Amino acid sequence: MSDAPRLVDSHCHVAEPEFDADRDAVLARAAEHGVTTLVCVGATGAVEANAPAVALAGRPGPVEIVATVGIHPHNAAWGDDAAFAALERFAAAPGVVAIGETGLDFHYDFSPRPVQLAAFARSVALARGRRLPLVVHVREAHAEAVELLRTEEAADVGGVIHCFTGDADDAARYLDLGFHISVSGIVTFKNADALRAAVRIVPADRLLVETDAPYLAPIPHRGRRNEPAWVAIVAEAVAAVRGEALPTVAATTTENARHLFRLPAR
Ligand SMILES: [Zn+2]
Ligand SMILES: [Zn+2]
Repeated sequence: MSDAPRLVDSHCHVAEPEFDADRDAVLARAAEHGVTTLVCVGATGAVEANAPAVALAGRPGPVEIVATVGIHPHNAAWGDDAAFAALERFAAAPGVVAIGETGLDFHYDFSPRPVQLAAFARSVALARGRRLPLVVHVREAHAEAVELLRTEEAADVGGVIHCFTGDADDAARYLDLGFHISVSGIVTFKNADALRAAVRIVPADRLLVETDAPYLAPIPHRGRRNEPAWVAIVAEAVAAVRGEALPTVAATTTENARHLFRLPAR
C-alpha cells in the first residue's frame, strides 16, 4: 500500500463493461492512490444488471469491494413486480450494503415522473424492510425527493445523496433528514460554485466522496473514462473548498462511509 491518505470511493460502477478489459489494473491503481474500499453500485440497467456488482463484492484483491443494488430512476419504467422481487433477492446477497441507486432524475426524464416517484417509494420501503441505507440519485428534483424521503420515513434507515449537485439550501434539507452528502468530481468543474458553497456547509460527519466512475471524471481528466483512483482528486478539491487538510478529509470521509454502510473495522 502507498502512503497516500486512505480513501473510500463511496460510489462507482466498476462492474460495468467499460472496465472489463482492465479491471484488475484499475483496482491496483486505486490502491496505489490510497483507495482502501469501493462501493460498487449495480443499478445502471435492467434489474439483472445488478448481478455483476454483486459478483464483484467480496472479491479478494488490492481493494475491498462492497455492492449496492437498485433500480436507477432512468429505468424506473422497468420496475415492475418481477423486477422488485429480483431486487429483493439481490439485496439479500452477501456483500450488499445498501439499496440504490434509486431516486429522481427530472433532467433526463427517461422514465415518466410518476413512475420514478413510485419506484423510488418502493425502493425506500425495500430498504426499510431490509434495514439497509439508501443510495439516492437526484437531479433537478430536490423538492420532490425531500418530500418523498420524508413521507416514506427514509430517515429510518438513512443514506446518502450521491453525486450531490444542489445548492446549500438543498443540502441543508437532506442533512435535516439525517442524510449524508456525497461529492463527486463535479466539485472541480468551473461552473460549480453553488455546489462548492454547499460542500462548505456539510458537517464533517456527513460528508462522503465518490467518483461515479466511469462517469464524471474530475478536472484534469474531464471527458475521459473516470476511475476510482481519481477519488483522491475529488478529496483534494473538497479539502481545498473547505479549507481543511487532505488527511482530515480522507480520514473523516472514510470513517463516515464505513459507518453509513456498516463496514467492519479494518
Ligand atoms: Zn447517479
Ligand atoms: Zn452512479
